[in-house]
Amino acid sequence: MVTRADIGVLGGSGFYSLLDDAEEIELDTPYGPPSDVVTIGHIGSRSVAFIPRHGRDHRFPPHRIPYRANLWALRKLGVRQVLAPSAVGSLRAEYGPGAMVIPDQLVDRTSGRAQTYYDDDRAIHVSFADPYCPSGRSAAVETARKGGWETVDGGTLVVIEGPRFSTRAESQWYAGNGWSIVGMTGFPEAILARELALCYTSLSLVTDHDAGVEAGQGVTHDEVLEFFAQNVTRMRTLVSDTVQALPDKRTCPCVSALDGFSLELP
Ligand SMILES: [Zn+2]
Repeated sequence: MVTRADIGVLGGSGFYSLLDDAEEIELDTPYGPPSDVVTIGHIGSRSVAFIPRHGRDHRFPPHRIPYRANLWALRKLGVRQVLAPSAVGSLRAEYGPGAMVIPDQLVDRTSGRAQTYYDDDRAIHVSFADPYCPSGRSAAVETARKGGWETVDGGTLVVIEGPRFSTRAESQWYAGNGWSIVGMTGFPEAILARELALCYTSLSLVTDHDAGVEAGQGVTHDEVLEFFAQNVTRMRTLVSDTVQALPDKRTCPCVSALDGFSLELP
């Protein structure tokens, strides 16, 4: 029986079958329960905890996901490295459906989401200049390339509040700034991971072009879901292979994100 895990996966419900000898654990946190029970098991020799970020029955839309509870629960289980597969829209004509983007930057366009653990009377400012783990990114890029994905190493993920999609003007504005992809869940996941000194890596599967790209194309929810469903098996393999490619021992800067602060972490 595994009651701890080294690696966390936050993803869609297609990932349950990832884990061998899976066990379900109900957890509570100071921020309420996570999106669902946590499934813990193995991928190869690595112990992995999986949380479906929208809940098993998809009851949490992006703006209502209990982000703080999810990351806290993972850390409490011993997790130090997190993989975050998700569906995104592309802001660039050259990245079409099926491209796998491993972003290295993020722009936060969300509003009203709880985005810190440190909202009491302490001043805790963590560095977020480079929001993603460099080791996790290189493991994901290498694995995606080996797996035959059209892989994009780097780029900027714009995280919008949702649940609506972007207008054409917003989408053109993002693209005009040189940003690459648009999603709804990458923030505050990334900052909350950093605030707990966890490594966080986004595996962003392009499912469609965003509204402003290739005029005339808009996005429908059904199209996104259908495309994602078609790619679930490939994504599962990618996540599974990336888990096994993550370093055993962390040497990245994420480890020291909280150096200098005296904090009680789970
Ligand atoms: Zn790291």
